[in-house]
Amino acid sequence: MTNPRRYQHAAAAGAIVLAAATIGALAAGLYVPACGFAFGVLVLVEAALREHRRVNRAQLECEWARRRALGMTPPPLDPCCLLSLHSHGQAHDRKCTGTHSLAQFIDQLEQQQKDSA
Ligand SMILES: [Zn+2]
Repeated sequence: MTNPRRYQHAAAAGAIVLAAATIGALAAGLYVPACGFAFGVLVLVEAALREHRRVNRAQLECEWARRRALGMTPPPLDPCCLLSLHSHGQAHDRKCTGTHSLAQFIDQLEQQQKDSA
């Protein structure tokens, strides 16, 4: 598995190259290729920012896990896990830093089954 930091650097380098190509195309009066290069710049900048967020989240989770392993009780991260962010709090990842344990999840399922019956 490739380090996400490598993807971040590659996307940033690609964005810089495409930005230079955009400027060169604009200077030469080639507006259609410049639009394509500019779109590529946007895509690569978004990719670089996404990888930057992923690296930062991984570092925060590692630091949280390290503090837990040392016996500390660090506060949960915000959001507690990425699955919770994308599921609007309905599901949690195995690396969840919150108080959402498997027992609470099973209790919630049992309560939903009782409500529907
Ligand atoms: Zn969670």
